[in-house]
Amino acid sequence: MARVRLVAGNWKMHGSRSSIAALLDELLKANPPSCAVCAPFPYLAQVAERLRGTRIAWGAQNVSEHAQGAYTGEVSAAMLAEFGCRYVIVGHSERRHIFGETDAQVAAKFAAAAKAGLTPILCVGETLEERDAGRTEAVVDRQLSAVDFKGGILAYEPVWAIGTGRTATPEQAQAAHVTIRKRVGQLCGAAAAGSLVIQYGGSVTADNADGLLGQADIDGALVGGASLKAADFLGIIAAAKRCTK
Ligand code: PEP
Repeated sequence: MARVRLVAGNWKMHGSRSSIAALLDELLKANPPSCAVCAPFPYLAQVAERLRGTRIAWGAQNVSEHAQGAYTGEVSAAMLAEFGCRYVIVGHSERRHIFGETDAQVAAKFAAAAKAGLTPILCVGETLEERDAGRTEAVVDRQLSAVDFKGGILAYEPVWAIGTGRTATPEQAQAAHVTIRKRVGQLCGAAAAGSLVIQYGGSVTADNADGLLGQADIDGALVGGASLKAADFLGIIAAAKRCTK
C-alpha cells in the first residue's frame, strides 16, 4: 500500500535567528515535498513566516498536557495551533529520559495535541539495556498502549541510536516497524494500521537513508543532527522520494 511519507527534522535546542534564516533559505531553494522542521519555541514564528506558502511544514518539539492555567514555562496545544503549527513531537526519548516524562504524561500530551487539531508525532523506542534484555517489543508495546492513538504519526526511535552515530540496521528497524504496525492494528484496526506513517529515527544520514527508507514498513524519518545541515536533510528527503513504494 502506498503511504504518505514524511521526513521531519528535529532541531532540538540548536539554532539562532541567523542560522535558522540561512538553513531555511537553503531548504527553500529546493522547496522539497513531504517534509517538516520542528523548531525550538522562540523561533516558531520566524519559521512559520518564512515557510508560509511553501511545501515545507513545521512543528514544535513539545507541548503541555494542560489546556491553560498556572503552568509557568509551558506552551499549550491551542497556542501552537493558533500560529498554524501542524506537527508536534511527543514522547521523544530525551523528554522521557532527561525530563522524566511518564507514559501517562505522554498520553495526555498526545490527546491535547490531537484535540487542538495538531498532528502528534509519537516517539517510541527501547534503550540498549532493554534491547539486550529482549524487551524491545514489550517496551514499545507499553509506550504505544498508553496512548489513545488516533490521527497521529509514529516514530520508532531506538534510544541507543539517537545522536550516537549508531543506526539500527534496516532489518532491525523493519522488524520493529512490523511489530508496531501489528500492534496498532490490534489497537486501532487494520485500516488505521495500514495507512499509518511510521518514521524511523536514530542517526539517519543521507548515506544510510536509502537502506532504511527502502524497507517496506519504514515510511519516513525523524532526523536530529542531520536536519541541521541543508544538504544532509535534503539528501534524506531525496532518498525518501527515491524509495517511495
Ligand atoms: C532525534 O532527535 O529524534 C534523532 C533521531 O536524533 P539523531 O538523528 O541525531 O540521532
